[in-house]
Amino acid sequence: MEKTQKSIKRLKSGKALNQVVAEYYLECMQAPREGRPVVWMPPMNGAIEMCYAMDLQPVFPENWSPVCAAFGLTPRNFEVAEGMGYSRDLCGYLRNIIGYVNGPMQAEAAMPLGRLPEPDILLSPNGGCVPVMKIFHALERRFPSAKVFAGDLPQVAVEEIKQHHMDYAVQEGARLIEFLEHAGKRKLNEERLREVVALSDQACALWDEIMTYRRVIPAPFSAAEIGIMFVMVTRQGTAKAVDFLTLVRDEIQERAHQHQGVIADEKLRLFWDNIPLWYNMGLFNYFEKMGGVVVAETYSAAWSLRLDPSRPFESLALKSLRSYPMVSCVSVERRKQMLLNACREYHIDGVIMHRNKSCLPITLGQMDIKRALETELGIPTVFIDADHMDARNFSVAQFQARADAFMEMLLARKGYAHG
Ligand code: SF4
Repeated sequence: MEKTQKSIKRLKSGKALNQVVAEYYLECMQAPREGRPVVWMPPMNGAIEMCYAMDLQPVFPENWSPVCAAFGLTPRNFEVAEGMGYSRDLCGYLRNIIGYVNGPMQAEAAMPLGRLPEPDILLSPNGGCVPVMKIFHALERRFPSAKVFAGDLPQVAVEEIKQHHMDYAVQEGARLIEFLEHAGKRKLNEERLREVVALSDQACALWDEIMTYRRVIPAPFSAAEIGIMFVMVTRQGTAKAVDFLTLVRDEIQERAHQHQGVIADEKLRLFWDNIPLWYNMGLFNYFEKMGGVVVAETYSAAWSLRLDPSRPFESLALKSLRSYPMVSCVSVERRKQMLLNACREYHIDGVIMHRNKSCLPITLGQMDIKRALETELGIPTVFIDADHMDARNFSVAQFQARADAFMEMLLARKGYAHG
């Protein structure tokens, strides 16, 4: 196994993703020429629907990092960031984007998928995790002419959202719309926003339906295809997301009905906790040689929510309060419950805990969750030490030794003799 390796794509519709990704970045690059103001923002909040409704171009610096990892572009970005004094212990998304905007983004050489257009507007979150806040503070310094909206949402655990949090988030949404109208020189049409929220809701419904098919045995698709979530990050509120997810849903539905699994003989069903290794998605295929399929992962829960188009402002407020904390800022107790439920629903035999050197918010609490999995469900876990962005913090030999021993133990528990 290589340190950086692509996954095996088995879904035909998954392959269409390359086109979706290329089209999105082309659209981003064309935005300045076409007079659409470019808005850089964090992912997973209600601002994306506002941007699409107002014909503004949303760009997600955090999402650009997995793209750089997939194309092997991170070493240069890390070198630039570390040269500026950013520690190697910091979040890989932060180091990558800061290195990128201060290095390769300014170079003339063409890169795969082009480059990000400079922001006219920055939506600085002041929420989520500390690294994501710091990314935007650094971007404000790098792009001093961009107009900055300083967001202010309560940092509240999902299970503790109350009406007063909602009222505040609705007010913040109104303040954001006023800012975008002024900075983007255009008016929000409420009817258009309802249409966009309806499309966003359709995408969420399709997402949930797709995830539900993963409960089927054998699983019709694995975590190796989780790149399909690109549309949830970048295209929510557009017909493009709905069309693509419909294609994926139809194919997965057919595979499920035909009992067509990822591999011919599925023996073990696995759960992946924490962010994937974006530079080595092939790792998900590693378990297949011993009959293991990674059928579910933490990230996919982030889009499991519904929006009400007749109440667009409330829906987007709730989305902003819920989505981002869903994976990174939720309480350990809630994460434990989410993982235990997922293990029951997806019939999980074993959990792989990615102890992620560069994402502490998601790594925190893994020991508590491991204990709960063992005592409440009798499900074993294995820890893999790595980093979702930085291949220097990942040892293939250590991974293989731990993964092989774990798989052998799981096979023996289920009565399979492994030869
Ligand atoms: S949640 Fe983790 S990966 Fe995402 S920005 Fe924060 S520290 Fe980085």
